[in-house]
Amino acid sequence: MSAVGVLRSRRVLRQLLPGLPASLTRHYTLDVPAPLLRTQAYVDGRWVSAASVFPVLDPATGQELARVSDCGPGEAKQAVEAAHRAFRSWRDTTAKERSVLLRRWFDLLVLHREDLAKLITFECGKPLRESLGEVVYSASFLDWFSEEARRIYGDIVPPSVRDRKLLLLKQPVGVASIITPWNFPSAMITRKVGAALAAGCTVVVKPAEDTPLSALALAELAERAGIPPGVVNVVPCSRDRTPSVGQVLCSDPMVAKISFTGSTATGKVLLKMAADSVKRVSMELGGHAPFIVFDSADVDMAVGGAMASKFRNSGQTCVCSNRFLVQSGIYDLFLDKLGRAMDAELRLGHGSEPGTTQGPLINSRAAEKVVHHVSDAVSRGARLLKGGTRLSGSFMEPTLLADVTTDMLCTKEETFGPLVPVIRFETEEEALAVANGTNVGLAGYFYSQDVSQIWRVAEALEVGIVGVNEGLLSAPEAPFGGVKESGLGREGSKYGVDEYLEVKYMCFGGLKL
Ligand code: NAP
Repeated sequence: MSAVGVLRSRRVLRQLLPGLPASLTRHYTLDVPAPLLRTQAYVDGRWVSAASVFPVLDPATGQELARVSDCGPGEAKQAVEAAHRAFRSWRDTTAKERSVLLRRWFDLLVLHREDLAKLITFECGKPLRESLGEVVYSASFLDWFSEEARRIYGDIVPPSVRDRKLLLLKQPVGVASIITPWNFPSAMITRKVGAALAAGCTVVVKPAEDTPLSALALAELAERAGIPPGVVNVVPCSRDRTPSVGQVLCSDPMVAKISFTGSTATGKVLLKMAADSVKRVSMELGGHAPFIVFDSADVDMAVGGAMASKFRNSGQTCVCSNRFLVQSGIYDLFLDKLGRAMDAELRLGHGSEPGTTQGPLINSRAAEKVVHHVSDAVSRGARLLKGGTRLSGSFMEPTLLADVTTDMLCTKEETFGPLVPVIRFETEEEALAVANGTNVGLAGYFYSQDVSQIWRVAEALEVGIVGVNEGLLSAPEAPFGGVKESGLGREGSKYGVDEYLEVKYMCFGGLKL
C-alpha cells in the first residue's frame, strides 16, 4: 500500500462547517506513505497491537483518520521493561555513537518533513505552513542534542587536602517517561527525547490521545536511523486508558525520570505520583502570558508581535499571549491597527488549504471554553470589537475584546484559543502588578523603546521566558521553561541535558602525591 486516503462527502462537510469559506466544501485527503502512517505501539523495536483500538480524528472535519492501538498498563509495563533492559547497553555507548544516531534521526525528519507536516495538520488542525515550521523546529532539537551529546563534561574540583582528587561524573538517570500534549505533537517529543538520548537515557513516550500519529512516525524514523530496540518506545492510548498507563509510567520503580508537557492540573497529578518513589521530574506546564505595550513602543512592531504570539496554532500554544495590556496613550491606535491586521491576515479553514492561517481548535470543549471566556467578559462590560462567534465543529472566529478588566475570566486563566482581551493601563507599576498577579509564569512579552524601562520590566516580570520587542521566542539554543506553577526545569539549550543527568561525586583518597 503506497498511500492512505481519507475522504469525506461534500454533504457531511457542509453540515460540519457552515460559515466557513466555500473552498472548504471539498474532499480532504491525508496522503502519506503507509510506512509513515503507523498505528501500532512501538515497544522494544517491534510494532505491536493492543487488544483494542481508538480513532484519531481530523479536528477540522471530525473525520476518522486512523485507528491506533489502545495500550493499557500491560503494554506500558512491557515498554518500561524494554527501556530498562536497553538502558544497560545504551548508557555505555560513546557520546560519539549517540551523536551520530541522533544526527541520522534528524536527517530523516528533514527528508520526510512534508509528510510529517501533513500528519500534524490532519491530526492537530494547524495550517500546513505552521506544521512544516513545527517539523523543522522538532528536527532542530535532534540536531542540537546530537551536538550536545559530545559536550557532557564532568568536573575536577580543587580539594582542600593534599592526598585527594575530587571528580564529578555526569551519568544518565535511567529510564525516562515522556508524556506530551497534542498542540506540538512532534516538537514536544524531540525536545525531551533528544536530550534524554544524548545523556544516555532510554525513553517510553506516551503521546496525547488526539495526536499519536506524529509520535509513531517519529518512532518509525528512529528505527530507520538505527537507534537500537528498546531505546525509544511509544505507547499510544485513549483518554480512558491514560490514567492507568500514566500510573505505570509515573510510579514503576524502573522509571527514574518523568518529563511532562501539558496542563498545570495534570502536572500536579503526575508530581504526586512521582513523589511516592522520589523520581526526578521536569514539568512544562500551562502559561498565561502577558503582552504589554508601553506608550514608547513602536506600535506597528507591537501589532506584528501580537499577531505572531497570539494566533499561532489558533492561539493554542503555551506561550501564546493571553492577556494584552496597552498603555492609555496608544490604546486606541493599537486596537485599530490590530483589528485591521486581523482582518487582513487571518483566514479560517482546513489546515491543508494553502491560504489558511487559522485551523480549528482541537475539539469542541476547547471552542466552548473560548466562547465562555468571551461571554463572561462581555457580560462584565468588555466591548466586542471583532469575532466572538463559534462556527460549526471546533472552529472559532478570531476575537478582539476591548475594555477588559481583571475581574474577567479571560484575565484569570489560560484561554488557549484565538481571543485577544485588551486591558487599558496608566503606569508601568500597574501593568507589572497585573502581569505578575497570577500563579503561573511561562512567557511574557513587552514592547518599549525606552532602554531603562526595558531593563526594569524584563527583570521584574515573573516568567521564565521574556520577549522584548519580539513575539516569537522559541529556539533550540535557548532554555524553555517557566516559573511558579508553569513548571520545573528547562528544555533545549545547554541546560536541557542536565534534566537527564545525575552528578556523581567521586573522591579519590589516600594518594601519595
Ligand atoms: P493535558 O490535558 O495536561 O494533557 C497532556 C498530556 O498528559 C496528554 O498526553 C494527556 O493524555 C496526558 N495525561 C492527562 N492525564 C494524565 C494522567 N493522569 N497520567 C498520565 N498522563 C496524563 O494538557 P493538554 O490540554 O493536552 O495541553 C495543553 C496544556 O499544555 C496547556 O495548559 C499548555 O499551556 C500546556 N503546554 C505547555 C507547554 C510548555 O512547554 N510549558 C507546551 C505545550 C503545552 P490524553 O491526551 O490521553 O488526555
